[in-house]
Amino acid sequence: MGHPETTRLEDALALVIAAASGQVRKTEICPVMQAYGRILAQDIESPIDLPQTDNAAVDGFAFHTDSLAENPERPLKIIGSARAGHPFNGQVKTGEALRIYTGAVLPKGPNCIIMHEDCTDKGDSVICHKRLSAGKNIRPRGENLSAGEVVGKKGHRITAADMGQLAASGCAELGVYRRLKAVIFSTGDEVIETGQKRQAGQIYDSNRAILTGLLQQEDIQVIDGGIIRDEKDALVAGYQSGLADADIILSSGGASDGIEDHTQYALNKIGAELLFWRLAMKPGRPMAAARKDGKMIFCLPGNPVAAFVCFKLLVAPAIDALSGRTPRQPLIVKIKSGFPHKKQAGRAEYLRAVIQKDSTGQQQIALHGRKGAGVISSLTGADGLVEIPLDATSVAPGDLLNFIPFQEQAL
Ligand code: AMP
Ligand code: MG
Repeated sequence: MGHPETTRLEDALALVIAAASGQVRKTEICPVMQAYGRILAQDIESPIDLPQTDNAAVDGFAFHTDSLAENPERPLKIIGSARAGHPFNGQVKTGEALRIYTGAVLPKGPNCIIMHEDCTDKGDSVICHKRLSAGKNIRPRGENLSAGEVVGKKGHRITAADMGQLAASGCAELGVYRRLKAVIFSTGDEVIETGQKRQAGQIYDSNRAILTGLLQQEDIQVIDGGIIRDEKDALVAGYQSGLADADIILSSGGASDGIEDHTQYALNKIGAELLFWRLAMKPGRPMAAARKDGKMIFCLPGNPVAAFVCFKLLVAPAIDALSGRTPRQPLIVKIKSGFPHKKQAGRAEYLRAVIQKDSTGQQQIALHGRKGAGVISSLTGADGLVEIPLDATSVAPGDLLNFIPFQEQAL
């Protein structure tokens, strides 16, 4: 059971994704070479078979297997050559062979290619020392793609491999969604700009730095909204200018219900529709999300680790939906715990973790860094998050747990 005032992560996710989906988004044309990380606004079909013809997978000699059916030692007459980009225009008949190089178009006639290591090249004839079956060492037409096959799906975020496949199939330009803009600002009378002279009790702002990096990973344009004092009107003005400038507004701090926490007041004042406030998870409990005029506002907790975890688990999938991307399903792997842990039921925990080997060489999860939602050193160097389920009250070494790797730690 979740805490009565809190929303479970999966419910909050469903709410933000539903709120962010289904909007009309602007599109633009993007050259394939600049498409990394962009989100396809259309299904893209390959206009061609790939490869377009049967071609050589090795350097050697192309011939028909019938040529050696009766006498495998029969010398085959070499009638010409084919290289990549330089096709042989004639036909190769039974009893003949064509010198051929990797990537060259297979001409009419041959049905196999013998590697040059497996035969004796006599200059004008060749003797094979291996029996080949039909199709050997030939890359068939359409092996990679058939004409009309979908090479990129609408809503997919383009990877380096996609760029290669799209380029190979001749798609030079793609319809993609316009990149979104996000305004980020920090709140708190104690928070100051990094590099400034620090007075007693002041702390350097780390959340804008964290959020800038996270948004850059998502290919979102960042507008820096600076630091806002713990004053109601200043926060209202911050959200209002964020709504004027950007598609996404991310504030951190002041998200709880303390006397200096004004985000709820400000959301109300600007007339935003609150989607949820307070999550049944640790870290991240104070978080809220709201919508106004098709734009999303995320009130992240002030504690840097909590802000990071909330971004990863909740804001990033919502940004997917806002950007036109099919919301991600993070890669979750079950790995056994190498640690004991106790907690209260009613809140899922997301602890920073590394993957280690136990004494038998098996992988296990170990907790990383010191505890605490403000301890950024638990994030730096961590491989990912380990989830302790909402209803669990304890974990014993050997229990299988969900491990969610960070992007940087994965390939
Ligand atoms: P709050 O949610 O505003 O109560 O903040 C919770 C904790 O996070 C407090 O200890 C704050 O000082 C700290 N905090 C808030 N904003 C930031 C920030 N931008 N950078 C670093 N720490 C912060
Ligand atoms: Mg504060």
